[in-house]
Amino acid sequence: MISLSPFRASWPGDYPPAARLLDAAKMAREKAYAPYSGFSVGAALLVRGRPEFFTGCNVENSSYGLSFCAERSAAVAMVAAGKTHPLAVAIAGQDGVPCLPCGACRQFLAEFNPELLLVLDEGGTPAVVSLAALFPAPFLLNRENRP
Ligand SMILES: [Zn+2]
Repeated sequence: MISLSPFRASWPGDYPPAARLLDAAKMAREKAYAPYSGFSVGAALLVRGRPEFFTGCNVENSSYGLSFCAERSAAVAMVAAGKTHPLAVAIAGQDGVPCLPCGACRQFLAEFNPELLLVLDEGGTPAVVSLAALFPAPFLLNRENRP
C-alpha cells in the first residue's frame, strides 16, 4: 500500500467532520455501476455553505473508454447545481484501503480547486491528503485569456 505521508494535510476545524464526508462517499458507492471491473467507488464533495454533499459513483460502459469515475461524477453534479468551488472530496473504494484519484480525476478536480482536500479511507479512519501535493502542476488555462 502506498504511504500517504508525503501528501497529508490538516482538516480545518470549521468543516464538517471528515468521517461524515467519508460516510457519504461510502453511501454513494452503493450506487456504482461497475459490472466489468467489480470495483465500486463513491465520492462526496463538500462545498462551503451547503449542509449536504454532492455525491457521485463510478459508471462503467461496455465501451470501456467511456467509463466515468466517481470523483468526476460528483464534480459534474456540483457544477450542475451551480457550484464551482469544492473544499474537499471524500473517495471510497475498497473499505479500509485509500483510493487515490486517477490522473484524469486529479486534473478534473484541480480545475475547480487546486488546493482541494481529499479524504481517504485508511484502515477505517479518514485520512486527509492534499490534491496540491498529489498533483502539484495541473494544466490550467490562463483564466483572463478565456473567451
Ligand atoms: Zn478517476
